[in-house]
This record gives sequence, structure tokens and C-alpha cells, in this order.
Amino acid sequence: MKSTIPRAVETLVVHGCSPLDTPDVAPPIHMSSTFRFPDADTATRVFEGSESGYVYSRIGNPTVDLFQEKMARIEGAEASVAVGSGMAAVSSMALTLSKPGDSFISCTTLYGGTFALFKTHLPSFGIHSRFVQPLAQLTKKQLGALVDHTTRFMFLETPANPTLAILDISLWAEVAGDHGIPLVVDNTFATPYLQQPISLGANLVVHSATKYLGGHADLIGGVIVGDASLVNRIHTEHVHHFGPIMNPFNAWLLLRGLKTLAVRMQRHCANAEAIARYLERHPKVVRVYYPGLSSHPGHTVAKRQMAGFGGMISFEVKGDVASGKRVMDSVRLCTLAVSLGDCDTLIQHPASMTHATYSRSDRMRAGISDGLIRLSVGIEHVDDIIEDIDQALASV
Ligand SMILES: *Cc1c(COP(=O)(O)O)cnc(C)c1O
Repeated sequence: MKSTIPRAVETLVVHGCSPLDTPDVAPPIHMSSTFRFPDADTATRVFEGSESGYVYSRIGNPTVDLFQEKMARIEGAEASVAVGSGMAAVSSMALTLSKPGDSFISCTTLYGGTFALFKTHLPSFGIHSRFVQPLAQLTKKQLGALVDHTTRFMFLETPANPTLAILDISLWAEVAGDHGIPLVVDNTFATPYLQQPISLGANLVVHSATKYLGGHADLIGGVIVGDASLVNRIHTEHVHHFGPIMNPFNAWLLLRGLKTLAVRMQRHCANAEAIARYLERHPKVVRVYYPGLSSHPGHTVAKRQMAGFGGMISFEVKGDVASGKRVMDSVRLCTLAVSLGDCDTLIQHPASMTHATYSRSDRMRAGISDGLIRLSVGIEHVDDIIEDIDQALASV
């Protein structure tokens, strides 16, 4: 981009990278592990840090840099570091910001892998999470009361997986700010097209780039964006030494996927809204969780902090787990698969699949019932998706 004038996300997803120094319109993929120096003096200066330059692809790669630059711009952040998966983003952040004896605050409703990391694996490094219920009416005072001298950061996911619970990012940011600790937001479900946590006071944003950012179910990737001081620490203290880097081909796929992020999200949102309204009226559906419905407890906060309500819906079918399973076995167009944010509509059962990492009591506390079905609404024609769900519900 020639200009430094802030642009709309729709424009930045297409143009938000520095101009290439080659005539390519699509960026080349730099599949090189190491980079040649013109002479020994240049090599010395690059190693001293007095001159910038590429050395080795674990430290920096031109294709990965373009993706990082675009992500920082579309999130309105100072810096960004790309990593090998969404879990690498979460774990790299946590292992940089906290050490043995430290703690942090997070929620009971989280991506299944994140919950397992926080509940089971970080404690073996001496790092513990305090979990709060993702209640819409949580106050500053209640949240602040959980912070003590060991608290190093606060972490939340909104909309949260899989109940689409909505947390008030500004409120959490105020509490974190009052205590001088960073707020980290997992923005995977919303994407920067619908929600910009940095502008709401968050210090770091993590993503599973595997989902909407890539958008085509063809890669695993992650990214951390936010305040330069924090991102640089994660990059140099953790990513350089633990090595969870993103490869150049996935960065290239992401640069390609990002170009259509805005138009894909528009369709995901429009389809999901129509499907949520259809499900809400269906006699065999007991409950629908979609932040765009006024029946959703987080609707007001979602309206304030999101530009749209996203493409994820969860719903409970009348009956037991078997009824839910029958729906999933009866779909013909929708794909029975985990993950989300793909162009295809994906359907899955959190209790037996993505959230099997939870004990039953943790699952109940997080509001993830046995019969809950999660739908990642794709970009197909909405009538075709509804027709498929309709015939599947008829089998119950
Ligand atoms: C998928 C996901 C992750 C983990 O990302 P991977 O790319 O699978 O490692 C983290 N958070 C959320 C909200 C996710 O949906």
C-alpha cells in the first residue's frame, strides 16, 4: 500500500501488504530455509542487528512476513507473528507471558484444545488458570476480585465455542488495564472483519488461521497480533527457540484466502442468521444459540462490539444424544466434520467430538449439553442448507 491512511477491512484484506519488489501480482512463495548474503560484512551487520535482512526461515521468511503484515493491519495492531497452528498461538502466548508459579484468568467456555491446555497441560509447567463462567452480566468488580499478584494475563474467547457465549471485551480490557496486565482475545470465531478487539482495549489477539482466515479447510495455521512489545517478546523469546513457525506455503494460502475474507463473512453471516431463525421456529428444536437472536443472553453486547453475528450456530434437538446423532447421520449436503470457517457447511456434536476433552461436569458447567449440535454455516445457497437440515430433522 502506497498510502498510510487507515482503510476499511474490505480493502486491507486485498491490499494490506507492502508492494512487492518483483512484478508479481500474487506474491511468490519463498520456499528457502536459508538466505544468501552478498558479502561477509553484510552478514556481520545483519547478525549484529544494525542492518535488517533475512537469515534463516525459522527467524524470518518473506512470504510469512507478508501475511504477518497484512494481519497486523486488518486487526489494527502494531505487530504480528505467524505460527504453525491456533494452538501454537495460544501456547506460545501463554508460555511467554507466564512462568512457573504464575497464573492467569480465563473462561470455562473455550475451544476444546485450549481448555485442555489450560486445565491439564499448563499446570504441569506450574502455570494455573482461574476459570470464570462466561456470564453476560459479569461485573468489573467480580472479575477484578480474581486478580492477585500471580496473575500475568487475562484470556477470553468471544463468541465462545460452542455455546456462542458473548463476553464484553471492553469490560475485560478495563479490568486488565486497572491491574496493568494484558488482555488476550481469541478472535477466531468473529475474525477482524466482524470484531476488532485491539480497538476495544485488548493487547493481544490470537487466531486459529485454520478457520475463517484461510477459509477453505486446506491448511493449519495460527497468528498472534497486538502490541509490538508483547508480540516481539513472543517472537524472539518463544517462537525463535521453541520453533512453532508457520511454513511459507501456508502463509501464501492465507494471503490468498484473506482476499475474500470480507465477502465470505458477509455470506456466512447472512446464511447463519436465516438458518438460526428457521431453527428457532422448528418444533423439534428445543433451543438455538446464535448471538444475532434477541433471545441470546449476549445479544446486546454482541450488537455493540461486533459488526455482524458470525457464521456459527449451536442448537439442541428434542430428545437425547441419539436424536442429535440421528440428525448428523441424516445430513446429505452438510459435512460431518470438526473445524469451522470453511466454505462448506460443517456439522458436529461437541459432547462426543470437539469437547470430549471436558469431563462431563466441566462440560455441564460450561453449558455444553449432551444433545448440543454445532453448525459452521458455509457459503452455499441458504435454501439448500435449510432443505438439508429440514430433511435431517424429519428423521428424528
Ligand atoms: C480451532 C481453534 C483453535 C485451535 O486452532 P488450531 O489451528 O486447530 O490449532 C483455537 N481457538 C479456537 C476458537 C478455534 O476454533
